[in-house]
Amino acid sequence: LSEKVRSVIDLPAQTLDGKQIDLLLNAGLSSGFEHSKNSGAQGIGLYRTEIPFMNRSCFPSELEQTVLYRQVLEAFAGETVTMRTLDVGGDKSLPYFPIVEDNPFLGWRGIRITLDHPEIFLLQVRAMMRANIDQGNLAIMLPMISHLDEVNDAIRLVNQAYYELSCELVLDEGQVLNRPKIGIMIEVPSVLFQLPELAKKVDFFSVGSNDLTQYLLAVDRNNARVAGLYSAYHPAVLRALALIAEQAKQYHIPLSLCGELAGEPAGALLLLAMGYDQLSMNPHNIARIKWVIRHIELKKAQKILKRALTFTNAKQVHNYLNEQLELLG
Ligand code: PEP
Ligand code: MG
Repeated sequence: LSEKVRSVIDLPAQTLDGKQIDLLLNAGLSSGFEHSKNSGAQGIGLYRTEIPFMNRSCFPSELEQTVLYRQVLEAFAGETVTMRTLDVGGDKSLPYFPIVEDNPFLGWRGIRITLDHPEIFLLQVRAMMRANIDQGNLAIMLPMISHLDEVNDAIRLVNQAYYELSCELVLDEGQVLNRPKIGIMIEVPSVLFQLPELAKKVDFFSVGSNDLTQYLLAVDRNNARVAGLYSAYHPAVLRALALIAEQAKQYHIPLSLCGELAGEPAGALLLLAMGYDQLSMNPHNIARIKWVIRHIELKKAQKILKRALTFTNAKQVHNYLNEQLELLG
């Protein structure tokens, strides 16, 4: 990072005309938290819990998970840590839980697995809530939601874990068992048409633009042969992102985006203009995105968005945005 970019690290992500947006971290490893803490972010927007499940030979116990999650929640005391429940399947497999399918990205993945195995889900959310009794900064996020019943079922399980724990645990002074906020990932296109109903059920939305792009465009996010077709700047994806932002505002639900798009200057600029409240990204992108936000007016970003939405392909959008970014310096 250049000196120029690094200089904004401890300053707020605020536009020239005063619009603030929260920048948060994507995380998933238990080590390196000290480094992430100094990245200039205000908490964790996506903790991918499947990552610590990967380098092992069996599922971690409730106690092991509690210890791990507590480390993360303590390292970010006073700032929200959004932990996503296990999102395996698709391209992410656990050596001790093999899944063989013809179409893994359309198969048994994320919430589908954990609702079929409520014992895995219950154990995980119990560990999260136990880990949270000192800090109280946990939020829980559900991956791969494609219809309302999944949300109802998952909330029922979270409530069950909460009531069981409130009977079992003997708390010290200052410790509180919280029922954490629950949000969903917006990453399967079907939920774009159920946002009003979903907004009534959960506390926040977080867009997974990596999967949303893959599923909207029917392009495998990891297939090099069709990589040229995969772009979050495709006009259809941009319109979907704008629609989500409009509806989130209409139904008063906090909105974040935690896919790779949030960590790209061009993407962040568009999302800022659309009205996203939070952007969550890899630690090394925070300073750069902050710099861009601090060097533009919201009004100007909105003008750029309006123009960007008139193009008919991703390449034109991308070229136009890069031109505009160059003008900022
Ligand atoms: C996404 O799909 O955009 C996302 C953030 O989740 P993951 O990349 O872990 O699927
Ligand atoms: Mg995803």
